[in-house]
Amino acid sequence: MVVVMKAGTPAVEIDKMQENLESIGCTVHRSQGENYCLLGLIGDTRKVNQSQLEANVFVEKILRVQHPFKLASRVFHPQDSIIEVDGVKIGGGNIAIMAGPCSVESEEQLMTIARSVKEVGAQILRGGAYKPRTSPYSFQGLGEEGLKLLKKAKAETGMPIVTEVMCLENFDVVEAYADILQIGARNMQNFSLLKKAGKSNKPILLKRGLSATIEELLMSAEYIMSEGNTKVILCERGIRTFETYTRNTLDLSAIPAIKELSHLPIIVDPSHAAGRWAMVEPLSKASIAVGADGLIIEVHHEPEKALSDGAQSLKPKKFVQLMDKINRIAKIY
Ligand code: PEP
Ligand code: MN
Repeated sequence: MVVVMKAGTPAVEIDKMQENLESIGCTVHRSQGENYCLLGLIGDTRKVNQSQLEANVFVEKILRVQHPFKLASRVFHPQDSIIEVDGVKIGGGNIAIMAGPCSVESEEQLMTIARSVKEVGAQILRGGAYKPRTSPYSFQGLGEEGLKLLKKAKAETGMPIVTEVMCLENFDVVEAYADILQIGARNMQNFSLLKKAGKSNKPILLKRGLSATIEELLMSAEYIMSEGNTKVILCERGIRTFETYTRNTLDLSAIPAIKELSHLPIIVDPSHAAGRWAMVEPLSKASIAVGADGLIIEVHHEPEKALSDGAQSLKPKKFVQLMDKINRIAKIY
């Protein structure tokens, strides 16, 4: 970080600024000429309050040289992180496929879907027991009953489960059942939930917020990691743009961008991005081609009867085709 002082700043004010920065633990390198003064901060600048510095009338501007996220940054951890869940590897060139219904609805529904996705190579079973719905009148999920059904499906198929934790109140119960805790798009900046997830020893699937920048997503990962849990899997699930034909706009460029910035694995959710089942396969292929570490796909054997997100759910037969295409594309890249 470089603090650019205004031309003509009295020497005493520059000294004060330098002392202030040193008092919070920064090493300051001063570079001064007739009409300029730059204070270069060396070392850990996490504790620097940029907004306070900008409020100083003698400060012209602040230039950031490094990213504000450290633990999530590739600079300090050049190798890809690989997160392992019951023997399934996510990241570092391994493609992980998570599939299952949007919501757990019944034993028969979950078992039928779990068996069908397992048969064609899905490694992780998804299914929401606590659902974040836009309308309070929509199906809210089966709650703990849904978690019990997920446990049953895991016992039969051997697939680890990923399910959403929506709030602090049900954190412990979801954590007890889940193998991967999902933090949904709407909660990406729920900082209390992120801190709590940081104290868990379960991997966290952190979905990008509807209008979050890549840096904000990585700062949310940083929240989890700074509490001690470094097992964070990122997920691009589409962002809100002016386009209304699709439910969201899948930001494919986020994948190579995040690969550059971070060592954390990043997977894609084409179901919530498109909102339309017919687009799920093409977007899945594109995601793997741009370097995603996996996919999370909604599958339902009777999408026309689904209690949530039927329009974007693939029937098992279509999921078979998708797996075939993905396997072929993964071999090329
Ligand atoms: C989900 O995966 O079930 C979900 C609600 O996704 P998102 O948080 O991305 O909307
Ligand atoms: Mn859904």
